[in-house]
Parts: sequence; C-alpha cells; structure tokens
Amino acid sequence: MNKDYDMIVIGAGSGGLSVIERAAEYGKKCLVIEVKTIGGTCVNTGCVPKKIMWFAANTGTIIKNSKGFGFDVEQKGFSWKKLKTKRDNYIKSITNWYKEHLEKLGIDYIQGFGKLVNKNTVSVNDKQYTAHHIVLSPGGEPSVPHIKGAKYGITSDGFFTLEELPKKVAVIGSGYIGIELAGMLNSLGSKVAIFSRANKLLRGFDYMIQDALNKDYLNHGITIHHNTQIKKISKDKTILTNKGEFSGFDTIIWAVGRNPITKYLGLDNVGVKYDQKGFIPTDKFQATNIDNIFALGDATPQTPLTPVAIAAGRRLSDRLYNNMVNRHLDYNNIATVVFSHPPIGTIGLTETQANKKFNKVKIYKSEFTPMADALLNHKTTTVLKLVCMGDDEKIIGCHLMGHGIDEMLQGFAVAIKMGATKAQFDDTIAIHPTSAEELVTMR
Ligand SMILES: Cc1cc2nc3c(=O)[nH]c(=O)nc-3n(C[C@H](O)[C@H](O)[C@H](O)COP(=O)(O)OP(=O)(O)OC[C@H]3O[C@@H](n4cnc5c(N)ncnc54)[C@H](O)[C@@H]3O)c2cc1C
Repeated sequence: MNKDYDMIVIGAGSGGLSVIERAAEYGKKCLVIEVKTIGGTCVNTGCVPKKIMWFAANTGTIIKNSKGFGFDVEQKGFSWKKLKTKRDNYIKSITNWYKEHLEKLGIDYIQGFGKLVNKNTVSVNDKQYTAHHIVLSPGGEPSVPHIKGAKYGITSDGFFTLEELPKKVAVIGSGYIGIELAGMLNSLGSKVAIFSRANKLLRGFDYMIQDALNKDYLNHGITIHHNTQIKKISKDKTILTNKGEFSGFDTIIWAVGRNPITKYLGLDNVGVKYDQKGFIPTDKFQATNIDNIFALGDATPQTPLTPVAIAAGRRLSDRLYNNMVNRHLDYNNIATVVFSHPPIGTIGLTETQANKKFNKVKIYKSEFTPMADALLNHKTTTVLKLVCMGDDEKIIGCHLMGHGIDEMLQGFAVAIKMGATKAQFDDTIAIHPTSAEELVTMR
C-alpha cells in the first residue's frame, strides 16, 4: 500500500536528524517531527552550550593563572549576561542552519508532538501521516526526585536559562553532568557544594579517576558531601539531608539522572515494548519488537551520548536504504569525555571490571603534575591508566584525567578500537614534551 513517506522520525535531536538526513541522501521521502527545538538536547541544552560554558570557565582559569607566567593581568569583571547572550545566539545560528539544511535535503519538518497511532501511522497536530518505517528518537529529560521542596531546585535545563552567575550553588548528583556543572561554576567564581549519595564521584568510572577528581575538586575549593541523601528542600533553599541541614544557597541544581521521554508516545497503541523506566530496547539493528519501528539514542538503554545516537542513526539508514544488510553500531569501546576541570577521558573496561572478567590483567599507570602547571600556585594532577589483558597485553581500557586529555583520547581510541597492544603503544615514538607521551612510555 502507498504511504505518505518512506520514513517518519519522532524527535529532531542528534539521532533523529542523523537517520533522516541519511535517508534523504538516499532519495527517500522523509518527515521529521519535533515538539521543542530542532537539534534536540545536544544543541540546545546539552553538549554545545555546556562546552561553551566550559571554554568560558577555562578562560577564567587561564586569566587567573597568567600571573604564574609573569603576566600582570587583572580580571576587571566577568559578564555572565554577555556570555549567555552570545552563547544563545550561537545556538540559534545552529538551529537555523538545521532548518535550512532539512529544506535543502527536501525533508518535511513539522513542529508538534508526534504520537504513534498504529504501526505505520503517526499523528501530529491532529493530522495523521503514514510511513513504511518509523523511527523513535525522543531522547530524555532530567529527572527530579519526588521529595518535598524539589521544585526549589533547577535541572541542567534550568542552568542554561540562568541570567546571573549563582553565588552559592548546591549540585545534587555526582554523575558526569553534575561534575561538569560543578567544575564550570567553581571556575567561573561560584561557591560550589556537591551532594552525592554515593561514597565516590562519577559512579562506574575507574577508581583512579574517581579519587583523582575528588582530590582535585577539593583542592580547588569545591565542597563534597558523600553518602548524603536529600530529604527535603525548604523555600529558602535550605537542604535537609541524612547528615543535617545545609543552607545559604541561591541555586540548587538537580543532576540525578535522565529519563526517556516515551510516556505519551503511543507505544501501547502499537505494542512497542519498553522497560520499567520507559527505555525502548532494540536489537543491534535498532529494531524494536515491531518490525518497521526503530528506536535510537537516549530513549534506548544504550550509552546516552550524541555520537552514539548519530552513528546508530546513520547506520540504520545505510541498512534500510543502501543495501548494507549487516550495518549496525558496535556499542563496545565507546570513548567519552567528562568536561570537568581538568577533563576526564575514558574508554573500555575499568581496572575493577577487567579483573572481574579476565584472569591475566596488567595495569600501567602514571600520576604527575603537568608541565602546564609547573609555575602555578594552583596545580592540577594528571593521571593516566592503561588496562591490559592476556599475554600480548591487549589494551582493553584507558582512563585519563588532566589538561588536554579531551582532545588526546580520540586518537588513542582509534588504536584501542583496532585492538592495539601495549607493545604497539611502546613502539610508537613519543611526542615531547606532552602529557600524551606518557601513554606510549609507561613501564
Ligand atoms: C547537560 C548535558 C550535557 C551533555 N553533554 C554531552 C557531551 O558532552 N557529549 C555527548 O556526547 N553527549 C552529551 N550529552 C548527551 C546528549 O545530549 C544526548 O546523548 C543526545 O542529545 C541524544 O540524542 P537523541 O537524539 O537521543 O535525543 P535528543 O537530542 O534529546 O533529541 C530528542 C528530541 O525529541 C524531541 N521529542 C521528544 N518527544 C517528542 C515527541 N513525542 N514528538 C516530537 N518530538 C519529541 C525532543 O524535544 C528532542 O528535541 C549531554 C546531555 C546533557 C543533558
């Protein structure tokens, strides 16, 4: 039977835009539906504005540190408002570009809330559209716990609407988003306290990174409350916890995880399966349990990262429309960076995971003050670790924290994905003087 479209995508974020762009490049007739702003989380309330703030925070640190190199520089002020206006304009330019890009590719775009009606039909703004393939990429949203006074806190979405630099901030949660916001705010001049219900920051990361980050954040004036459960927040932003009351905050930020936005997507109308949290499981080809319906990105239980959603989307269109029958994303060895201060990079298994999985694990690590900080009063620590396995010491994990590792890891990730061994790293001549050279000279 004829359909209005080859592909309809619900959600114009990283995943949705990627799958539909590629489908259109293969000459397919496509419609994408977006309820908020084109570009999704990454462009509007995630990676992009976050990285701008991180650059700003780094610039502040460079100004402060410049005395160490003999500069007589005085920071006369910092305008959060100017930064926010420029950041928001930059993002507007990206979203405008996306709209033009979709038009150029001949992709139809509808602003509204998309909902599944049946396995080939989607409704939006009281109209129905049919397609051979439907892709669900609605992403996620910050979660806020159901406790008294939770509404007195904001989330990462609210952080990007702040009109002023907060003076004293409580960041609740110590996952990567909480850690990044805490680091940025601290570097820009806020007094920051992190409240974590765990006994370590960055759950799931290698313990060397968790410990190094803890030490570094404490050294840079961030207060950290471990093993702390939040019980109640009062109107004056006093936080009641299992460890007593904490007050004086002008801003409280919830950074306690994200939930998929799948509740009102009409999944039950079609029988698309979802788990208890609302995530839509798929097979390795991004297929749901309904044969022509696919899911991508943060709405699935896979790693919630932009390049993951993009890669999964592109591969799906390659497979559906370009005869690449086995094309799918390999979810192993995905490198990622936490834009903390200094940044953290990680790929593969942690030391603990490797020891649980394999008998013969060898660890190489290094800890030092980077040369960039040698002349400064406030120094950071660089820590590097390689997790190797077997007689040939295949590298199955790499964990880094320090200046520049955000740009350093990508190249090493290629080598690790290709199955590099420690001996091959050792055979690579170092680039000197850098922090990265330690990774090819560790003993
Ligand atoms: C603060 C923060 C920082 C981040 N930093 C990084 C980073 O540095 N690096 C990185 O790789 N990742 C980062 N991420 C994660 C990244 O943003 C996500 O992994 C990525 O955006 C997921 O893409 P997606 O397409 O699955 O969902 P999204 O980008 O969230 O897009 C989903 C879109 O669907 C829309 N939608 C939802 N339901 C409907 C509906 N029913 N009808 C129509 N539209 C709908 C939403 O409005 C949204 O625009 C960050 C996230 C946050 C919150």
